[in-house]
Amino acid sequence: MSNPIEAWKAEKHPLDAWDEIVAHASAATPAENIPPQDLERMKWHGFFHRRRESPGRFMNRIRVTANELSAEQGKEIALMAYEYGHGIIDITTRAGVQIQGLEINHLPRVEARLRKVGLTAKQTGHDNIRNIFGHPFSGLMPHELIDTRLLCREVDAIYLNSREYSDLPCRLNICFNGSEDHPVHLWTQDLSFLASRNADGEAGFQVLIAGTQGQEPRRAWHLPVFVYPDQVVAFTQSILDLFRLKGSREKRSRSRLRFLVETIGVDGVLEWLKVSLPFQLEPANSEPIPTAATEEWVGWFRQSDPGLWTMGLSVPLGRLSWRQVEGLAILSRKWGDGHLRTTHEQGIAVINIPTAFKSAAATDAAALGLSMHADEYDRNTMACTGRQFCDMAVTETKGHMLQLIDKLRKRALKLHGIRIHMSGCPCSCAQHFTADIGLKGVRVRRFPGTREGFDVFLGGGISGQVNLGLPYRLGVDVDQLPNLVEEITNEYYLRHKPGQTFSSFWRDRIQAEEAKRVGDTDYMPPTWVCDGCSHHHQGEDPPVYCPGCAGLRRLFARIEVTADSGKDAGGRQTMSSLQAAHHEQTNGFMMAAMLSDIPADAGLTVSLDGQHYALFRHDGGVRCIDGVCPHDRALLGDGGFCNGLVVCPGHNEAFDVCTGCDNQHPGERVRTYETRVENGRVLIRLRNQTPATQKVIRTGQRFSGTATTPGAKISTAPPGPPPAATAELTVVQIIDETPDVKTFQLDNSAERIPFDVPGKFARVCASIDGVDIWRSFTLSSSPVQPKLLELTIKRNPHGQMTNFLFDSVRIGQKLKIKGADGAYFFDPEIHPEPLVLVSAGIGITPMLAITRFIKQTGIRRQVLFLHGARTPVDIIRHDECLKLSKTDSWFHYSVWLTQPPSGWTGFTGRLGPVQVLSQVADPIGSRYFLCGPDRFMDDVRTALIEAGAASEKIHTERFHVYSAATIVAV
Ligand code: SF4
Repeated sequence: MSNPIEAWKAEKHPLDAWDEIVAHASAATPAENIPPQDLERMKWHGFFHRRRESPGRFMNRIRVTANELSAEQGKEIALMAYEYGHGIIDITTRAGVQIQGLEINHLPRVEARLRKVGLTAKQTGHDNIRNIFGHPFSGLMPHELIDTRLLCREVDAIYLNSREYSDLPCRLNICFNGSEDHPVHLWTQDLSFLASRNADGEAGFQVLIAGTQGQEPRRAWHLPVFVYPDQVVAFTQSILDLFRLKGSREKRSRSRLRFLVETIGVDGVLEWLKVSLPFQLEPANSEPIPTAATEEWVGWFRQSDPGLWTMGLSVPLGRLSWRQVEGLAILSRKWGDGHLRTTHEQGIAVINIPTAFKSAAATDAAALGLSMHADEYDRNTMACTGRQFCDMAVTETKGHMLQLIDKLRKRALKLHGIRIHMSGCPCSCAQHFTADIGLKGVRVRRFPGTREGFDVFLGGGISGQVNLGLPYRLGVDVDQLPNLVEEITNEYYLRHKPGQTFSSFWRDRIQAEEAKRVGDTDYMPPTWVCDGCSHHHQGEDPPVYCPGCAGLRRLFARIEVTADSGKDAGGRQTMSSLQAAHHEQTNGFMMAAMLSDIPADAGLTVSLDGQHYALFRHDGGVRCIDGVCPHDRALLGDGGFCNGLVVCPGHNEAFDVCTGCDNQHPGERVRTYETRVENGRVLIRLRNQTPATQKVIRTGQRFSGTATTPGAKISTAPPGPPPAATAELTVVQIIDETPDVKTFQLDNSAERIPFDVPGKFARVCASIDGVDIWRSFTLSSSPVQPKLLELTIKRNPHGQMTNFLFDSVRIGQKLKIKGADGAYFFDPEIHPEPLVLVSAGIGITPMLAITRFIKQTGIRRQVLFLHGARTPVDIIRHDECLKLSKTDSWFHYSVWLTQPPSGWTGFTGRLGPVQVLSQVADPIGSRYFLCGPDRFMDDVRTALIEAGAASEKIHTERFHVYSAATIVAV
């Protein structure tokens, strides 16, 4: 039984629907009053209703057979886009052209105007043969084997206006290449003719058949025949007959030519050709080989007539304004012979420009905003129509791709020919399966709804032969794409073998792996808070205007978060900040963790508002109690957990996670908190606790940093690191370190803030607009001098806390401090190895603390101190370190500058894994402390591990601070 589409096609042949279109146009029938099948039939006439983003509007897809467009045709297209549409013209990935935004009453006029200039939009959609294109410069190239333009037109003549050949089981793609360099896209067409020579040196075509991108992509089969140019039309017609008569019309999902060839095999196709053709085909003497060279369509290309040139222009993502197209038409008449070519990479070229007119033509093109000097982003990216104008689309594409390009440009990432293609749905019109980095639009779940995202494919394109991309990450949030693209590109640059292509590198890496689905916990867009009205906004960037108070974008402050591994240095489970970043406050509930982060048989420690909480799975739900044992301050999340009881790792007393009661001392308890699990997120109600749970262990006694033993006695602090404490300390000095870094010296003469080992951090509290905000900063001073604490802090222009500290805090003022805390520290007792301290920017602060500590304690330890900064003025405490390197033989100090001034004698460039490894004499025997941007640390860490360093000897400093919540530091 045929599928429903076959049924309505049989009911009325779509070519017969034109009269009705004309009637609808003259009546200006609203699209909703046109039967859906009639809207579908319009695609046989080149008109596509855009019901989603612009209901009532139509797109017109115009054939540009063999890539040839005259100035007259270009001008007419431009004028129609201006007069009837949105003024936008898109060049497609089949070298066709689309006008967006037509209204129903315009359609007959568009058809007539196209016909008048020798164009047609017929059969450009649905079950038809799509635009047939060849090499964009066919007929112009000096070394072309076959000029395929006439062949394209002759094949067009087989099916245009034909009732039979416009009733295929599915769409069909045909293309030609008259040169001997065969690019990768030829392997994903239904029928590709690749110019070649036979054993006698005669020119003809090798044939690839039944390749597809789309839902079930497949590389084309090589048909082992050699087709002479004069056999092409009959050959094509025979293949069309085979498809038309034998292709599946039952299941739409099996209707592409590839499924027929899969069923009958290449031998079945050959058998059909043998029977149906009036001539015998010559066998092919070899298989076609893809070229690894990237096709270049942008720039000046000398034609076979050496006095003439083709000016290939970059059209970012294929979108042109009507003015540009009209201008190109005029330009081509003025400086060329009035002819243009479109490319299947969404570009355009002006041909036949005499040498003397080259610079004038280029100047005129530049005046239109078009250039031959496009950067590698404009050259190496493609995006299909996407949600803006395509009803099939799952996501927007051109807008997202422009933003992706913009962000990658700002990061100065070099593509070096790596191609990125973005399709808005599985149809893969942007050919994402044969790109180096293929992006397919999907919706991804992000609490509380869904967002646009992309499945990422790598390993497509040339890797020895043509390959289709393998899924690498599924469901990547659109805002996370810049990071991912940067990571995978840098990974290739860093680790590829000589001569290895990007595709080959990633193919080797991932072919044995299953693609990782990016969970809705793996990436949460950053949260921005409006200073004006506290409106929360999620996204990589703040909104242009605050939807709450219409405040300007600059009012938004980013809530600071970074990635973490989910475990602290001691292997303790902590809440991932990426998860925590998405904390939600609803009815007093605050997002605390992802359910998946809580182990079945252990606890999870999180810290919110500077307070620790322990989460446990119990009785099919989640229980939350105070995170710190009131008796000896051990973290209860670390304790053994069984049958609803957690055993304090410090003194082995058990607490009931439901009631909070101490099992041995029933009168005592820790607080319990109400929890809720929503969409995999665990929310804790921090306010409005029931009176019983608001009590601290001992009636009337607040827990404020002093440990208490169970029962009546107050204990002294247990052995081990001193507990963090909270105290108000006076600012005694503020030192300007660099233009945006200050050191705040705090009077801790009463040693109310215990500080035992260097590297730990302290939390600073600021009351801003009546809200207590906590932020963590590493102590840059040495614990040998615990009476004077130093916090060296860089101003974050968007950060509430640092702006407050820089602008409002004065000498003599008191600051509420909690600490010292953290699992990132140097302890000479347990870290006997030579030290390598690696930092970038403000990441230098723990390194200063460690260095000062070693200097002041006089312990014998070799220190290699490697630091990266921008300019000399950005190096914090450069003089101190330089001096030490001259006076103390155990201290070796090197700095890399990305913007070195003349006369700089140190290292230049960015400090990274290569530089670190080049300095470390004993990668295996050293202990490392890293601090800087996450990616910097991750790269260095990965390189060190690959060089043999044990991961437990590599300490990375990260803080996870957001708004009112502080996540346990790693
Ligand atoms: Fe539309 Fe999908 Fe094709 Fe993009 S890939 S143009 S979204 S059908």
